[in-house]
Amino acid sequence: MDKPFAITLDPASSLADKTGSWRSERPEYVRRLPPCAHACPAGEQCQAWLYEAEEGNYEAAWRKIMEDNPLPAVMGRVCYHPCETACNRGELDEAVGINSVERFLGDEGVRQGWTVEPTAPPTGRRVLVIGAGPSGLSAAYHLTRLGNSVVIRDAGPVAGGMMRFGIPAYRLPRDILEAEIRRIEDMGVEIELNSAVTDVLEAKDDGGFDAVFLAVGAHIGKRAYIPAGSASHVVDAVSLLRSMEGEEKPKLGRRVVIYGGGNTAMDAARTARRLGAEEAIVVYRRTRDRMPAHDVEVEEALEEGVLMKWLSTIKHVDSGKLVVERMELDESGFPQPTGELEELDADSLVLALGQETDLSLIEGVDDIHVDGGVVQVGPDLMTGHAGIFAGGDMVPAERTVTVGIGHGKQAAQAIDAWLRGAAYAPTQEAPLAGFDLLNTWYYSDAPRTVRPQLDAARRASTFEEVVQGLDATNALFEARRCLSCGNCFACDNCYGVCPDNAVLKLAPGEPYAYAFDLDYCKGCGICAEECPCGAIRMVPETI
Ligand SMILES: Cc1cc2nc3c(=O)[nH]c(=O)nc-3n(C[C@H](O)[C@H](O)[C@H](O)COP(=O)(O)OP(=O)(O)OC[C@H]3O[C@@H](n4cnc5c(N)ncnc54)[C@H](O)[C@@H]3O)c2cc1C
Ligand code: SF4
Ligand code: SF4
Ligand code: SF4
Repeated sequence: MDKPFAITLDPASSLADKTGSWRSERPEYVRRLPPCAHACPAGEQCQAWLYEAEEGNYEAAWRKIMEDNPLPAVMGRVCYHPCETACNRGELDEAVGINSVERFLGDEGVRQGWTVEPTAPPTGRRVLVIGAGPSGLSAAYHLTRLGNSVVIRDAGPVAGGMMRFGIPAYRLPRDILEAEIRRIEDMGVEIELNSAVTDVLEAKDDGGFDAVFLAVGAHIGKRAYIPAGSASHVVDAVSLLRSMEGEEKPKLGRRVVIYGGGNTAMDAARTARRLGAEEAIVVYRRTRDRMPAHDVEVEEALEEGVLMKWLSTIKHVDSGKLVVERMELDESGFPQPTGELEELDADSLVLALGQETDLSLIEGVDDIHVDGGVVQVGPDLMTGHAGIFAGGDMVPAERTVTVGIGHGKQAAQAIDAWLRGAAYAPTQEAPLAGFDLLNTWYYSDAPRTVRPQLDAARRASTFEEVVQGLDATNALFEARRCLSCGNCFACDNCYGVCPDNAVLKLAPGEPYAYAFDLDYCKGCGICAEECPCGAIRMVPETI
């Protein structure tokens, strides 16, 4: 199939004599790291799977994703897609909708029932994973692919961690999450539920495990000291969202105040609206531009009628009322009290002030170091105790599903290497394909495909999924917007522009689709100049 967004010139017709000996430089085909892949915390090869998707090879595209990320349908919904922030196309018109194509492929994988096989023979080694959140599930998946046998123990009644008990169903439908977890179980991963681990060394020794991956997340809602009358109704956001998974839905009343400025505050406020609150007001001590919540979450909350009260802290809470103090930012952007007080009516106060990790299971293990409430690990994610690794929310890193999945893969590779007595060697990254390497005039204008959304008025009263998926036509179009930064997409330009017919097409299966016939190439560099995506570089001739 022709690639639609690059043009191809007719092949040159001259049959030159051998001119290779005149050269001072020669061209080389290269593979560079596209900025999207560089930015993906799960280490996905986005450009490579978009390339398959744009040909309609959905299964091949899905399998490429599965090399890195076992939960593409989940990730296509909840990932904050730093890949798109980094995407070179953003400098041309708008970033490629990588996340929406990933969701389409993830859903296709679930719909078609595609499965994944191990890539290595059984090693006979057993690994215990503690926690069935994204990090633990990812580690279990990758360890299984590498031939190890894995048991996951989780304290909860259902697997999924914060994907199940934090992220609301209107952003992540439970049937999708369950289908992707089931696929991991079907590979042979054993998940023991309602099995809190209280002592990591005991669990390791009693179960005869060769290594452990800790991924217990951060589940304890932080409390601020706010004087509260005995009749006041104060809950923490994590407990509120967790209780949404139970039979009985929580009662918050008509006016709900949410204290905090992160993504959890947005989810709590949007959930309060769906539970019937006429007013859900987020109180935050700084301004919108300093909020840790992602823009898209704030926008969606505002669309659903959530109100924001910036530059405010809560001083006191009592039955039906709370007292708020206005703040102002000092020169360093830190909020300072002004002494100006105001009363707000509120039936409930929801605290969304961040989460802490329960580390009781490693108490007494002296060589595991904890700093700032999180476990310290090396570049291979091993703690100070040989054979015990950790990742996800319980180690110092950004707290997202995507980072957790990336840690799971990295830990699996490091554990597998450690069990084999080999040194862990992180993959060497190729040079980055920056925007300056692209010949953008070869690409057509192509506006980004917008994902349909449920109407805002309907959203506030239902837990149905808000953001809808792309269909096959839209997904194909969106994948074709990819500029293939730094990697050949077989447009034939170099083959066409070479005045000496020195570009040869190779048979499928070769590392590159083309090669240079150095007997004829005189090193003019036109091919490198005219490659749309920076997949050719000129290097000094070696004699
Ligand atoms: C409300 C909310 C919304 C969020 N939305 C997003 C989002 O849209 N996108 C995004 O990328 N991230 C989001 N996040 C963050 C994301 O959910 C977390 O960063 C991610 O789930 C962390 O993964 P994890 O595997 O480290 O831990 P978790 O997902 O927390 O899983 C840890 C698991 O360990 C288990 N466990 C704990 N202690 C023990 C023990 N002693 N023994 C056995 N099992 C134990 C728990 O039961 C749990 O299942 C959100 C978080 C919250 C709270
Ligand atoms: S997981 Fe997130 S960052 Fe990675 S490719 Fe998918 S959307 Fe982009
Ligand atoms: S255009 Fe394609 S290869 Fe380039 S950064 Fe964007 S998604 Fe990645
Ligand atoms: S190397 Fe560049 S110019 Fe040559 S076929 Fe590939 S993308 Fe086109």
